[in-house]
Amino acid sequence: MQELVKSLAQKTDSKIVLIVLDGLGDLPAEGEGGGKTPLEAARTPNLDRLAKEAALGLMDPIARGITPGSGPGHLGLFGYDPLQYEVGRGVLEALGIGLDLEPEDVAARGNFATVDENGVLTDRRAGRLPTDENKRICAKLQRQIKKIEDVAIQIEPVMDHRFAVIFRGPGLGGAVADTDPQKTGLPPLPVTALAQDRGSRKTARIAERFVFQAMAALKDEVKANAVLLRGFGKLPQIPKMQDLYKLTPAVIAGYPMYRGLARLIGMEILPLELGNESLEEKLRLLRENWGRFDFFFVHIKRTDSAGEDGDFARKAKLIEEFDAHLPKVLELKPDVLAITADHSTPVPLKSHSWHPVPLLLHSRYIWPGGNRDQRFTERDCRSGGLGRFQAIELMPELLAHALKLQKFGA
Ligand code: ZN
Repeated sequence: MQELVKSLAQKTDSKIVLIVLDGLGDLPAEGEGGGKTPLEAARTPNLDRLAKEAALGLMDPIARGITPGSGPGHLGLFGYDPLQYEVGRGVLEALGIGLDLEPEDVAARGNFATVDENGVLTDRRAGRLPTDENKRICAKLQRQIKKIEDVAIQIEPVMDHRFAVIFRGPGLGGAVADTDPQKTGLPPLPVTALAQDRGSRKTARIAERFVFQAMAALKDEVKANAVLLRGFGKLPQIPKMQDLYKLTPAVIAGYPMYRGLARLIGMEILPLELGNESLEEKLRLLRENWGRFDFFFVHIKRTDSAGEDGDFARKAKLIEEFDAHLPKVLELKPDVLAITADHSTPVPLKSHSWHPVPLLLHSRYIWPGGNRDQRFTERDCRSGGLGRFQAIELMPELLAHALKLQKFGA
């Protein structure tokens, strides 16, 4: 399918905006929900108006019954098979903070953590270290650890307690297991190779020495006296959106992972401070860069966080806040506008889920005859004209509505 779309794609002036409200999809909640989902309970006059002129549908991010992480969830939205392309979180975080990776590099994400005098984890996030403290500690580590064997070590702060580490040297492999045991009361796991190839064993050996040296360098820190490493991996071979779709794409996102994923497939990162989730700022960037790109991916993180916290009222309020800003997007008159999610994060589950995600698609060429009273809700999306399909089919749909796909065959 990707090859077919690639062969039909053509460059035009039309513009596509894809807005992803992370974890938007939900379930009806009793109690404060009154049997409604946050999308149903939220007062959304602008979305309501748009939904009447739009096509609605449901999308399965990966496949029925599969609960996706945000990485695979987004890959599908951009038309990449999440089962074909596996991307390590370390690579995404490194790219997302603007680091450049060589094909031979191995990247991992790190957490500063707290261990007691017996080496047992008491806090996997080192008290959610402030970013300024993180910067100071990363600089301290980098001063003391520059090279292990023939491998150069680069340590960069990300946000809060998170950092990225790049291992750069000959013959490294990416198949290395996480050292985070995922709960406190246990010591960090030793670094082990997941595959028995020489490269991965070399990476595991270097990373183990890195952890050892880092612990020694951090022994006087009160909270950040240990490191956990996760998401080892190398830069994957993945086609760019420019080549596949002939698009000039840009990403507007505050979180490193989403920026990294977008950059990996060719999007330019528009300048936004890390962690900045202000809708005003994001839509200002959209407006100011409107002429330079023909595809914009706007990522909104907080809806997912509210779902993970099981906070119905906050999730509904965030949807209302988005609704209030929607006219600023519509003023730009995008040829195609899609509003959807990378997965559901239902309040009753407090986690990602397998449920399909609601989709609103607006363009001049929407098939009329839909339900005129429809709202952008899970329930109305279920009976929407787009039906239910896999997220990987969204990109061809967006390109077609933007008149960017030529006819197939004579
Ligand atoms: Zn997500």
